[in-house]
Amino acid sequence: QTPIEKKPSWIKTRVKMGPEFTELKGLVRREGLHTVCEEAGCPNIYECWEDREATFLIGGDQCTRRCDFCQIDTGKPQPLDTEEPRKVAESVQAMGLRYSTVTGVARDDLEDGGAWLYAETVRQIHAMNPGTGVELLIPDFNSNDDQLAEVFGAAPEVLAHNTETVPRIFRQIRPGFRYARSLEVLTKARAAGLVTKSNLILGMGETPDEVEPAMRDLFEAGCEILTITQYLRPSVRHHPVDRWVKPEEFVEHSKAAEEIGFAGVMAGPLVRSSYRAGRLYAQTKRH
Ligand code: SF4
Ligand code: SF4
Repeated sequence: QTPIEKKPSWIKTRVKMGPEFTELKGLVRREGLHTVCEEAGCPNIYECWEDREATFLIGGDQCTRRCDFCQIDTGKPQPLDTEEPRKVAESVQAMGLRYSTVTGVARDDLEDGGAWLYAETVRQIHAMNPGTGVELLIPDFNSNDDQLAEVFGAAPEVLAHNTETVPRIFRQIRPGFRYARSLEVLTKARAAGLVTKSNLILGMGETPDEVEPAMRDLFEAGCEILTITQYLRPSVRHHPVDRWVKPEEFVEHSKAAEEIGFAGVMAGPLVRSSYRAGRLYAQTKRH
């Protein structure tokens, strides 16, 4: 391990198992359910599950794109599983979730880019779980208007699309995406009447000065909720950690984001885009 790979002292998880967490943990094991929270080893699982919030991945475990920070494999995806939306909705029901985040891989192999799959998952969760919020974190669907219309029409409580990094290094980090196109997706979502959200991962090569302009780009594009996180390298094959952002810097970015006008902001070393997502959404509604 090179020194930069050593996690600083402030990246520490508090393991605090509450009653809701313990119940969900047993249930998920008994029923053989799959969540990103467990499978990605997310450090926030004790907190999110205690609030009955969890994240699901759709579209399989192979992505047609390759982002430098992402632990999902790039490869040829499995055929579309048309039962998946129902299975996810049943998991949400079994877990008695108050709020669910659904994300997935980019399915450029499918004619509709996976739009039906994303939309149908939202529809099924809502149908089976009235009162449970759905946050849908999407790839960009190449900004295709028909595909986006299908997804937006499913009316998730929050539509998230992450730019993840600053424009200068964007193409290197996300070669399958374009910065302007990602901003455009957020603009279109907002125009469709949805609550919009995005995420920036720090520590992949940006400088502290580049963060605020990137936040402004998002805000001007119509993004209402923002999370700012620390990059953690999934493996040695991934982009190295360029810097560990101090908690104080996260506080500064957070303040700047509020001044810019974001309705909801969450920033910190262990924050994930789906961290306490239901709470953040509720906060935004009151805004
Ligand atoms: Fe990972 Fe999404 Fe990029 Fe695919 S498109 S590699 S799932 S971040
Ligand atoms: Fe699950 Fe997201 Fe919370 Fe992690 S931050 S535990 S992935 S909902």
